[in-house]
Amino acid sequence: MAAKKAGPKRILILGGGYVGLYAALGLQRKLRANEASVTVVDPQPHMTYQPFLPEAAAGSIEPRHVVVPLRQVLRRCHVLNGRVQEIKHADRTVTIETAAGEREQLSYDVLIVALGSVARLLPVPGLAEEGIGFKSIGEAIWLRNHVMSRMDQAASTTDPDVRRRKLTFAFVGGGFAGVEALGELEDMARYATRFYENIDEKDLRWVLIDAADRILPEVRPTLGAYTVRALEKRGVEVYLSTLAKSFENGHVVLSDGTEFDSDTIVWTAGVKANPVLKSSDLPLDDRRRVRTHPTLQVVDHPEVWAAGDCAGVPDLSRTEEDPNAVCPPNAQHAVRQARHLAKNVIRWLRGKELKDYHHKNLGSVASLGLGRGVADTLGIKLKGWPAWAMHRAYHVKAMPTFNRKVRITMDWLLGGLFRRDILSLGQLHDPHAEFQRASRPD
Ligand SMILES: Cc1cc2nc3c(=O)[nH]c(=O)nc-3n(C[C@H](O)[C@H](O)[C@H](O)COP(=O)(O)OP(=O)(O)OC[C@H]3O[C@@H](n4cnc5c(N)ncnc54)[C@H](O)[C@@H]3O)c2cc1C
Repeated sequence: MAAKKAGPKRILILGGGYVGLYAALGLQRKLRANEASVTVVDPQPHMTYQPFLPEAAAGSIEPRHVVVPLRQVLRRCHVLNGRVQEIKHADRTVTIETAAGEREQLSYDVLIVALGSVARLLPVPGLAEEGIGFKSIGEAIWLRNHVMSRMDQAASTTDPDVRRRKLTFAFVGGGFAGVEALGELEDMARYATRFYENIDEKDLRWVLIDAADRILPEVRPTLGAYTVRALEKRGVEVYLSTLAKSFENGHVVLSDGTEFDSDTIVWTAGVKANPVLKSSDLPLDDRRRVRTHPTLQVVDHPEVWAAGDCAGVPDLSRTEEDPNAVCPPNAQHAVRQARHLAKNVIRWLRGKELKDYHHKNLGSVASLGLGRGVADTLGIKLKGWPAWAMHRAYHVKAMPTFNRKVRITMDWLLGGLFRRDILSLGQLHDPHAEFQRASRPD
């Protein structure tokens, strides 16, 4: 069903991540003057290019370069910083809490749901208090400073137990996010030991835990097994088919009886659709993603569209083997769906026929640290340096905006010239401390 032609439509995009940014870019490029207004709502003023978070954490890329400022690139859209709290499609309203802390109701004619996913936490004692996720630029910066500051602390203590705890880093979840973050940070920390008189490479303990019997489900099992071997060669302890039972007070207990203390627990054990959707009146599937047609229109609501991690989009490339197949939550689909969605919204506004989204997975690439990687793409399996080069080439090409592509390439060139920067800016996490100390009476 096509939109009735009337005055300018109000298009509201919820979320300014991959889908939100690319859909808005597509719309601002194609919309005629006065055809529609576009508003993007996101708590952050930027889109985050998540596949580069591990490199940002390891200091190979300047963190600011892996985010794209929404206001700078969405010149023909309105950007509103706020958090969606409720979607009431029956009333065509969305309630948000603005960045200033006020509640506001927004109405729309066309709604695009691009709210992504959040970390899927399990009821493990101590997880919420001791753990950290790895989905945002804030977490990546924090983790880098945290790892480096644990090395500084370990270097300055004579207590062997405290030192061991500081130098033990645990990652739960062997998907791309966990494996890449561990691979990059381990590489960085090992390089940093050269500059510590009393920390040796073998003093660092890196642990990867996964409930499944393999890691990297995104690539073929042989590449997953290769990655385990490559990590173990570097001294990483990999626990497969193992559950984390407790993290209370930083004391890690695993289902096979292993126990150790760690100041660093990174939780990357999967994602779930944004929980805001649960309280909306939009149709959800069994994994609480918004159900869409292959056109990316939400089932039963032609004026609502959804894509990316928060949407259950039929995967037409796999429907022959599985009629209920849904696109996996990854950047490859998010970007393509967003572009497709923008074109379909324009077609719909102009009363033209819509097209179905169809994309066959091209495979995956992952970095495991400088010069190391795995790739399984277009039927070709690659390991080591060629896979790592492919990872960088693919992602810099996919990175939005020419500005960011150039800045990231410059970061890599400078990194090649001057080696890694091992600086920790831990003061960022408590910038008032020095000022407060100075304000104490003499
Ligand atoms: C570390 C890491 C590495 C990855 N590497 C790869 C990779 O190599 N290849 C690959 O294909 N995929 C990768 N992914 C997955 C990929 O990044 C996601 O699939 C992709 O970001 C999904 O896009 P999206 O637009 O659906 O969600 P997002 O890009 O997460 O965007 C969601 C947006 O919604 C906003 N938002 C959240 N809650 C609210 C709210 N209440 N109100 C308003 N806005 C809100 C967020 O701030 C965010 O901007 C990786 C993910 C991570 C975390």
